[in-house]
Amino acid sequence: MSTVIDRIGLLVTNDPAIGPGTAELRNAAVLIDDGVIAWVGEADRAPAADERVDARGRCVIPGFVDSHSHLMFAGDRADEFEYRMAGRPYSAGGIRRTVGLTRAASDEGLRGNAVALLAEMRRQGTTTVEIKSGYGLTVDDEARALRIASELTSETTYLGAHVVPTEFADDVGGYVDLVTGAMLEAAAPHARWIDVFCETGAFDVDQARAILLAGEAAGLGARMHAGQLGESGGVQLAVELGAAAVDHCTFLSDADVDALGAGTTVATLLPGVEFSTRQPYPDARRLLSAGATVALATDCNPGSSFTSSMAFCIAVAVRDLGMTPAEAVWAATAGGAAALRRDDVGVVRVGATAQLVLLEAPSYVHFAYRPGVPLVSRVFAS
Ligand SMILES: [Zn+2]
Repeated sequence: MSTVIDRIGLLVTNDPAIGPGTAELRNAAVLIDDGVIAWVGEADRAPAADERVDARGRCVIPGFVDSHSHLMFAGDRADEFEYRMAGRPYSAGGIRRTVGLTRAASDEGLRGNAVALLAEMRRQGTTTVEIKSGYGLTVDDEARALRIASELTSETTYLGAHVVPTEFADDVGGYVDLVTGAMLEAAAPHARWIDVFCETGAFDVDQARAILLAGEAAGLGARMHAGQLGESGGVQLAVELGAAAVDHCTFLSDADVDALGAGTTVATLLPGVEFSTRQPYPDARRLLSAGATVALATDCNPGSSFTSSMAFCIAVAVRDLGMTPAEAVWAATAGGAAALRRDDVGVVRVGATAQLVLLEAPSYVHFAYRPGVPLVSRVFAS
C-alpha cells in the first residue's frame, strides 16, 4: 500500500541533509510505501501511488515524539489540582497516592487507561511515545507495568526510583538496594531505559548514580528527572554518565547549562508541569544559546501534568520559554527523537519510519498562534 501526500504548502522535514533546524520545503510531496518514507520532493514531480491525499497547501510535520510520559497508572487527582490552584504548593509526595491506586488496579484497568491515553495522543499528532513505570514500586508491580507498557511501545522506561514508597520511608538505602537488585532484574526484560527522580524528597545524587549505573550494567540506557523543584547535582551527573536525556531542567546553575551545552545529553523541557503546578517556567533560550539540544515532552501523568497535548507544550514554549515556533516544533519532533536516541522518527527523509501529521493550518506557527485549537487533520503512522 502506497500513499502520496501531494500539494503540501509547508513541509517540516528536520532533515539535516536539507538544512538546519526544521529544514522546511515549500510546495512539496511525500510518498509513503509500506510504512516507510519512500520519496520526498517537489509537488510537481510527485510519483503515482495507490492513494493520493491532496494537502491543499496546508502544513505537514513529522509526528510528535513524546519522550516523557507516565501512562501506567490508575486513578485521578483532579481534587489535588484544584487545591493547588487555590494556593497549596506541589510536593513530590502526591505520587504515593497514585501508587496506592495503581497497585490496586487490575491489568485490564492499567492497560485500558494507557490505551485510551495513547489514542488521545495519536489524535493530537503524537506518533512515538515513551512510557515509564514508577507507580508500582514493588518488584511485581513495576514488572507488571513494564510488561503492559511494552505491549504498547518499544520506548519503555523502568522508574522504580520515582519516589521512596511509604513502606521504605525509614530505610531509603534498603529501597535503593531493591531498585538496583531484584526489582531491576524483574523490570529489565521489559524495559529499554532506566530513569531516576533526582530531587529533594526523592533520590540524591549518590543514589541516582548507583541506580543508573546498575541499570546500564543490566543493558538499559540512562535518563533522568532533575531540576524540577530546585538545583541539584542531578543534571551534571546525567551529562557525566552520558544519559540520553535529563528532563525538567527548570532550575539550572550556570555549570549545569555549560555541561548541557558541551555534552550529548538532551535537555527535555516539560512546560505542562510548570503550567499545572504554577511554578516558574524553564528558560529554553538560555539552553539553546549554550548549544544544548532541547526537547519538549508532556510528562503526561495524573499529578503534575495531566496533558497529552504536544501542541499545548509548543504553545507554552513559544509564549513562556523563549522558543521560536520553529525551535519548539523541532524540539517536539526531532528533539524528542534525539532524547530517545532515535534517527528513524521525528524526521521526514527517505528510509525513515512514516510518521506524518497533516495540519488544518498553513503553518506550524498556528500551534502557538491558535492555542487550544485542534489543528490535526490527519495522522499518517502505522
Ligand atoms: Zn516525569
